[in-house]
Amino acid sequence: MPDVAQRDGPLLVFGPRSTSYDFGPAHPLTPRRFGPAIDLLATIGAVPGLAPEPAADEELRPCHTEEYIAAVRRFSDDPSRLPEAGIGSSDNPAFRGMHDAGAMVAGGSLRALEAILRGDVEHAFHPGGGLHHAMPDRASGFCIYNDPALAIARARRAGLRVLYLDFDVHHGDGVEAIHRDDPGVLTVSFHESGRTLFPGTGWLDELGEGPAAGTVLNVPLDAGTGEVGWLAAVRLLVPELAAAFGPDIVVSQHGADAHAWDPLAQLRVTTTAMAAAARLVDGIAHLWSSGRWLATGGGGYDIYRVVPRAWSLVWLAGAHRETPERIDEGWRDRWAAEASRFRQAPPPERFLDEPNAGEAVSAVGATADERAVAIAGVVRSVGVPALIRAAAELGWWDAEADLRRPPRGGDGLGAIARGNAVPVADRPAILEHVTAGTWARLALAPRVISPADPDAAQVLVEAALRSTDGVSLTAALDGTLVVGACLSAAPAAWAGTRRILALGVAPEARRRGLGRRLLAAHLDGLRPGDNDLEALVTVAERDPFEPLSRDVRAVLARRLFVGVGFDVGRAADPVGRIDPDAILARRPALSEA
Ligand SMILES: [Zn+2]
Repeated sequence: MPDVAQRDGPLLVFGPRSTSYDFGPAHPLTPRRFGPAIDLLATIGAVPGLAPEPAADEELRPCHTEEYIAAVRRFSDDPSRLPEAGIGSSDNPAFRGMHDAGAMVAGGSLRALEAILRGDVEHAFHPGGGLHHAMPDRASGFCIYNDPALAIARARRAGLRVLYLDFDVHHGDGVEAIHRDDPGVLTVSFHESGRTLFPGTGWLDELGEGPAAGTVLNVPLDAGTGEVGWLAAVRLLVPELAAAFGPDIVVSQHGADAHAWDPLAQLRVTTTAMAAAARLVDGIAHLWSSGRWLATGGGGYDIYRVVPRAWSLVWLAGAHRETPERIDEGWRDRWAAEASRFRQAPPPERFLDEPNAGEAVSAVGATADERAVAIAGVVRSVGVPALIRAAAELGWWDAEADLRRPPRGGDGLGAIARGNAVPVADRPAILEHVTAGTWARLALAPRVISPADPDAAQVLVEAALRSTDGVSLTAALDGTLVVGACLSAAPAAWAGTRRILALGVAPEARRRGLGRRLLAAHLDGLRPGDNDLEALVTVAERDPFEPLSRDVRAVLARRLFVGVGFDVGRAADPVGRIDPDAILARRPALSEA
């Protein structure tokens, strides 16, 4: 929970031009949705504070090609042209002024992001934004210019590392495509599977390539997945991924189309679950990103019963205010007739839905919910570092409610400095067995092991050492500074197996064989007859600040473990199928000879 209340709530981005993004009366993404939604926001005290204006062409170029921008401008002047660049289809029909309309949405998200960068506000919410399907060179899925991708690019130019969370029912394919090669952007999309829904992508094995491998994660859910499975997947992944990555800012897309009543998709999420997700995002923004959070809207086609509530709940999360129980009577009266005319009636009485949106859970739904948890579990095995996973499973540390950590305080953009390297002696001393008492007198250097924040890692390791889970820690020391660490555990739950959970070296101490020395010393320090040893190394095991290329990482991990007598093979499925470079290293217990 944030320690300082946001006095007036998130900066709300809406203005006279917001309704100009209009593909026509028959199109599902209609600006009619702003009427009931902005009105409901007003009833809870959310007043627009930033009116979007079109972004300049040069502001669109970081994510879109010159040719595409020129094509949009041609359609903007003459909507009757032959289709090209994704424009002129039924999804993305041409309309007069479409360049300015698309650029206006981008401008809203860019100006909001800049207000956060300046420190004018902690949080901003642009309900008209979230056009996450737009590609560098074509329109797609009702999206002309990709405002979340552009906002992310703007944050990157300011030197910030970005966590992008996409809750729209459709895969956030455009944002992923635009940023998948950038290791400083982690994109995570929760969506209905591409088997049953547009855009047909967002699979488990889309992980990013090269140094960015591991910075693309997708959670494709079966049609029929309800709030239970959806929210469980979100809760399982978001806090741990945020802790591992250590973003400087969070950008999130809150499409309301995962709702049970949405006419275009087949998930069965509720406003209750959407509110919980938004509050989770607010919490991690405060925990890891000094509060910096840009939220956008997205899809959502039940525009009287769902969209106004979903948007209000995002704003309330950012305002750190309780959700009112009942919806204002006056609002319901004002929109009842129109809602009825469009067959999305009656306007709801409460912000939060009945469990499962008031429907019985079908057998199909229950199965889909179970599958959602299993799918999220696989994503976690591939995408979350082993140390953070073990810490959660063994109760050492909770990535969502880590309040034991000393507060970092108002360090503003200076937080980026935690990614800085430290000078290190030529040959650090190795301490084979570090006890909890010793650990308390040491300081962990940045970028040695997960989580990304060394203060959090320090707390996690201390809890591990105080546990009864057979934790063994070997450290490389420069004075009292820990510049390398190897940590393993052998809790009863792992039935005779000791897992190596972390092996890392600070940037300035790398490329000197210190990792090899640490691992060898760690193994020497284990009792003869100790357990079988095992290490699973996936794309998650990387320096999140400056990762090596995926293939180099795989080669180094293999060499390291082979060098100390492990058998190294491909990780078992499903991890191995999704992350083919993942390795499982094993060594049987050495008998007492
Ligand atoms: Zn907040």
